[in-house]
Amino acid sequence: MSVIKENLEEIRLKIKRAAEKSGRKPEDIMLLGVTKTVDCERIQELADLGVKELGENRVQELMTKIDVIKGGVNWHLIGSLQTNKVKYIIGRVKLIHSVDSIHLAEEISRRSVKAGLATDILLEVNAAGEESKHGFSPAEIYGVVDKLREFDGIRVKGLMTVAPYDENPDNNRVYFKKMRELFIDIKAKNRNNIDMSFLSMGMTNDYEAAIEEGANIVRIGTGIFGERNYN
Ligand SMILES: *Cc1c(COP(=O)(O)O)cnc(C)c1O
Repeated sequence: MSVIKENLEEIRLKIKRAAEKSGRKPEDIMLLGVTKTVDCERIQELADLGVKELGENRVQELMTKIDVIKGGVNWHLIGSLQTNKVKYIIGRVKLIHSVDSIHLAEEISRRSVKAGLATDILLEVNAAGEESKHGFSPAEIYGVVDKLREFDGIRVKGLMTVAPYDENPDNNRVYFKKMRELFIDIKAKNRNNIDMSFLSMGMTNDYEAAIEEGANIVRIGTGIFGERNYN
């Protein structure tokens, strides 16, 4: 069996267990295969194994892969997005996870309207308040949601966070819980144009804890492909 297949089977089993622990079905959890730095041959292998939701964190790298990978895959942008790159991805990605400023949302809105379509986005939250991380603070997210309701061409579909790296993933539960609280709270307000469907949190190191705390998208790279090689 190939390494990718073997890794994938283990991840699927762990997703199933964590989903059941939180009273959900494994199919309620989306596994997003994170393909940054991975060559197209290995990405295609993953797609052929049934992982159809793929995530990249850089626009340029995404564009080199998007027309090569076959089999009805959906691409997600998960990394920080510069406004001047928005035009390249409108209409080409299923979901932008990393909207971290009103200015960026404005540009996505403008470009989407121009293209005659609507773009689904998640709002990135800096749940741990880390200096080095992008995202809105938990405190400002309500105001942001209110503001974005007025924007045409975007649909807010949920929240995303990148938790700190911690050898003990249980230490991130406090941030995952915070995210779930925000998610549930905003959902309960039932705002126009705001549809809290996706809570994107959990990576290789902490996806089981994230699912147990309510994630329904996990973004996994290393766990599938092995350690990345940044040359
Ligand atoms: C790289 C990346 C991931 C995947 O990280 P792994 O630890 O390799 O699973 C998830 N989310 C974002 C935003 C990333 O940049």
